[in-house]
This record gives sequence, C-alpha cells and structure tokens, in this order.
Amino acid sequence: MLQFHAAAITAFCACTVQSVFARSKSTSSSKGAGTIRVVQRALERPIESKRRETGALLESIRQTEPFARFRKADNLDPFPPRSAVPRYDLHCHSTHSDGLLTPAAVVARAAARGVDFLALTDHDELSGLAEARCAASEAGIELVCGAELSVSWNDNTLHVVALGIDPENPRLIEGLDAIRIGRSARARRIGDALAAAGIEGAYEGAMKYVTSERLVSRTHFARYLVEAGYARETKDVFKRYLTRGNPGYVAHPWATLSQAVGWIHAAGGQAVIAHPGRYKINATGMRGLLAEFRDIGGDAIEVLSPSHTSAQYTEFATYSRVFELRGSCGSDWHGPGESWMDFGDLPEMPTGVVPVWKDW
Ligand code: AMP
Ligand code: MN
Ligand code: MN
Ligand code: MN
Repeated sequence: MLQFHAAAITAFCACTVQSVFARSKSTSSSKGAGTIRVVQRALERPIESKRRETGALLESIRQTEPFARFRKADNLDPFPPRSAVPRYDLHCHSTHSDGLLTPAAVVARAAARGVDFLALTDHDELSGLAEARCAASEAGIELVCGAELSVSWNDNTLHVVALGIDPENPRLIEGLDAIRIGRSARARRIGDALAAAGIEGAYEGAMKYVTSERLVSRTHFARYLVEAGYARETKDVFKRYLTRGNPGYVAHPWATLSQAVGWIHAAGGQAVIAHPGRYKINATGMRGLLAEFRDIGGDAIEVLSPSHTSAQYTEFATYSRVFELRGSCGSDWHGPGESWMDFGDLPEMPTGVVPVWKDW
C-alpha cells in the first residue's frame, strides 16, 4: 500500500513525497503560518491573469468530465466574487470513489469557485489525495487530506469524515482496505437482489460507471438504473430501489464508530459526523449518537451540508454548542448535474459554533 502511494505521487506530478503529505500532524503554529501564506497568495493574485487561468481551467474541466449527459446541466459561474474571509469546503468526491471528476478537476473547479481550503473526502479511500494535493498547490489553494468512512451504528449506516489525516498511516490504510474489500462482495449481492426483483444486468451496468477498480458504490448502481430508465434521477433510484425496505437494498457491516474514530486519530486527523440531518434517527437517538461520539473522542459535526435545510443549520449549530463538538461545512459535491449545491455555495458558519479549522 505504501508502494501504491509512492507510485501514485510519482505518476501524478513533480511534488516531492514530503510536500504531498506534509499536512499530516504539524504544530498548530506552523499550520497557522502556512494558512496565512496560502490565503494571502490566493487573494493577491492579479485579477487578469487569474481570469485567463480560470478560463483555461474551466475548459479543461469540461473536456475531462467523463459523462457527456451531465455537461448540459453545468452552469458554472467562472468568476465568483472572492470572499474577504477564507472559504472552506471540507467534503467532496472524485473519480477515486463515486464522484464524476478526477481529483485534479475537482480541485480546479473548487479553486475557480473561490474555495481557499478544500478537503477531498472520497468514500473509504485515500488514493486521490496525491493528485489533488499537486493540483491544489498549482491552483494556490490548500488541500486538506480527507476521507469519508462508512460506519455501522445501531442498525444505521453513518458517514464519518476524516480531516487532516496522514494518508500514509498504516492503521488508517488497513482499516479502509478492509471496508473496501467488503464493498465488492456487497455489489455482487446488490446485483443479485435487483435481478431477483426482475432487474437483470444491474451489476454489469453499474460496473460501466465505476471509475476506480478499488471502489464500487450504490451511486454506480443508481447511475446505471437512471440510464436504463428505472428512474429519472439518482435520488429516485435510492428512494425506490437502494435503501432499506426496497428490492435492491443489502445490509452490510461497515466499521464501528469507535474503530473509525480510532483510525482517524491514529492518522493525526479530526473525526466529523457527516450530514447528521440525513440519518433516520429521532431526537433521542441523535442525542445518544452525539454523546457517544463525543465520549469516544469525536471532534466535530457537519453543521452546513446540502443535505440540511436552513432550519437544520440552526438545529445542528445548537447541537454543536451543546455537545461541544466543533462545526464543519462541506458541499458533498459529486458532479455537475448531480449535486444541487456547488463549491462556494454554502453560507457562513452560524455564530457561536467553533469551526473545525479553529486550530489549523
Ligand atoms: P454506499 O457508500 O455505496 O452505500 O453509497 C453511498 C452513496 O450513495 C452516498 O455517498 C451518496 O453519494 C449516495 N446516496 C445515498 N443516499 C442517497 C440519496 N438518497 N440520494 C442520492 N444519493 C444518495
Ligand atoms: Mn457519495
Ligand atoms: Mn455521505
Ligand atoms: Mn460524501
């Protein structure tokens, strides 16, 4: 696995191994200094050269999108106003899991949309980080090394975002390897379950959409079922076929919450409950989850997420304060035409929430 990362770095860019993974566990003072430099660099670039650069980047993004049918839905504003305060987007996906763009294209898009700090958080996977890190360095923004870990908790599947991890940490790498191996067997079972419900060829169809041989997800099934005419949008496929109680749902044991937090901390990162408003958990259950998460050392919850309504921004800001968990924000961007909120579209963090980046 270590060999894989080294090979990936050499293949993707001229960055040294040290600079690619330098973000791991530095002292807060050196992180702070780095942060200020990056923001200054991003804000000081001359407008005209930035415009030319941005135009070229956007053109290359359009060329690299893998699926033409998503292009027409992409109304990207190439010159968003730059914010006086740094913009953070700490949750998104690339072709190394179930996103539609390569890590370099994701970074270029985020930079063009005014993001200063971007975390690439592919599902159960670190292999896109080397490429993303190099692209971020070229674009003059800061890449936060991340991942989104799949967790089973009391009969629910939860997602835990890892931020600021060392992608070479053996415990984290082994844990993620174990989760991904389970994914392939599960994909076969999803194909069988859909076939039993009269939908033939779903496994083979999903495989056409897989962009990394290391990771197959329900999203790949959803894209195929849209193509095959079973639904108009992927979210309808989830509602009708891929969630609990529906024909293509297959239960799967992921990591435990304490394993996920343990691996993230071993790798020097912060553990964040992703999109807490999305889980089918009542208020008592949510308080139980957040108390347990805090007690095992969890660091933060996503307050701002496109899965949340604006009322939930307020609700999770309150949970963040009450449970003394920091607040995070991320667009959970997967691709043009699929994600309704783009990089840079999230509002400011509500006052009173301690942001997850406070000590960076
Ligand atoms: P998996 O990790 O294979 O179970 O797939 C989870 C992924 O499916 C999530 O990260 C989302 O990208 C996608 N997903 C889950 N639920 C929905 C939904 N209701 N609508 C659209 N996408 C969803
Ligand atoms: Mn996803
Ligand atoms: Mn998620
Ligand atoms: Mn996600």
